Amino acid sequence: MAATEFRCEVKGFKHLTPSVFEVTFDTQQPLEFSAGQFISVIIPGAGPHGRDLRRAYSIASAPHVRPVELCVKLVEDGPGTHHLYRLRPGDTFRGMAPYGDFVYEPKPGSHACFIATGTGIAPFRSMVFSAEFKKNPPISATCLLGVSDVSELLYTNEMESLQGITWVPTVSRPTGEWRGFKGRVTDYLRAQEAGFPWLETEYYLCGNGAMIDEIKLLLAQKGVAKGSVHQEVYYKPPKELK
Ligand SMILES: Cc1cc2nc3c(=O)[nH]c(=O)nc-3n(C[C@H](O)[C@H](O)[C@H](O)COP(=O)(O)OP(=O)(O)OC[C@H]3O[C@@H](n4cnc5c(N)ncnc54)[C@H](O)[C@@H]3O)c2cc1C
Repeated sequence: MAATEFRCEVKGFKHLTPSVFEVTFDTQQPLEFSAGQFISVIIPGAGPHGRDLRRAYSIASAPHVRPVELCVKLVEDGPGTHHLYRLRPGDTFRGMAPYGDFVYEPKPGSHACFIATGTGIAPFRSMVFSAEFKKNPPISATCLLGVSDVSELLYTNEMESLQGITWVPTVSRPTGEWRGFKGRVTDYLRAQEAGFPWLETEYYLCGNGAMIDEIKLLLAQKGVAKGSVHQEVYYKPPKELK
C-alpha cells in the first residue's frame, strides 16, 4: 500500500494517563493499513522558515476498528505532540499513511514476545487485536510494558482480559503500592529462568531506543538470531539519561 495524504477528522480526545492522551479520528477516503504501521502527521508551519513538520505516530487500534486511535505522550515543548494535544472533536488534521514495516510476521512454531516502553505499546495493541494475529497466533504471546510509575500504565484492563496474551506490566520506580514486577522490562527478561524459550521466540521491541539497545544486547548474549528481533525506535534519549 503506497502512502497517501488523508484529511483526518477528530472524533474523540481523552487522557489515558496524566501525560498520555488518545486522539481518535476518521478519514473520508478508506485508510487501509497493517497492524503496527504508523501515520505521519503533518504539523503546519511548525518547522524552520514556517515549513511544515512531520511526526510519526503508530496506529494504536486494530485495522478493522473505527475511529482510528492514536496514543500520544505529551512531550515538553514538542511541536508535534502539542499540535495533537490541542485537537478536539470536529477539528481536522492532515496525515500521510500507511508507513512502516514493523508488522506482525507470523512464524509457525514460534512464540512472540512484545516489549514496549510507554506509548511503544501502541503498535502491539494494534497487532494483538488484529484479525491477522487471531488467524495466525504464535504458540504463546507475552506482552511487556515498562513504565516508571504505576500512573503511566496503559491499556491494563483490556490487555489483562485479552485471551492468549500474558500481560506483564513492569514499573521501575513505583510511588504507591505496586504488586507487579518492580524493575525495567530488561530486568524482567534477565530474570527469566533457563526454561524460557529464548531461541524459539520472535521479539518485537518498541519505544525508547536505550531500552531497545539493551534488550538487543541481552538477546544477542542468549544466542537469539538477529532475524528474530524486530524493532521500532521512537526516540533516542540523551546519553546521560540512559
Ligand atoms: C515510527 C514511529 C512511531 C511513533 N509512534 C509514536 C506513538 O504512537 N506515540 C508517541 O507518543 N510517540 C510516537 N513516536 C514519537 C513521535 O514521532 C515524536 O517524536 C514525539 O511525539 C515527539 O514529537 P514532538 O514534535 O512533540 O517533540 P520533538 O521536539 O520532536 O521531541 C522532543 C524530544 O522528546 C523526546 N521524545 C520523543 N518521543 C517521546 C516519547 N514517546 N516519550 C518520551 N519522550 C519522547 C525525545 O527525546 C525528543 O528528542 C513515534 C516515532 C516513530 C519514529
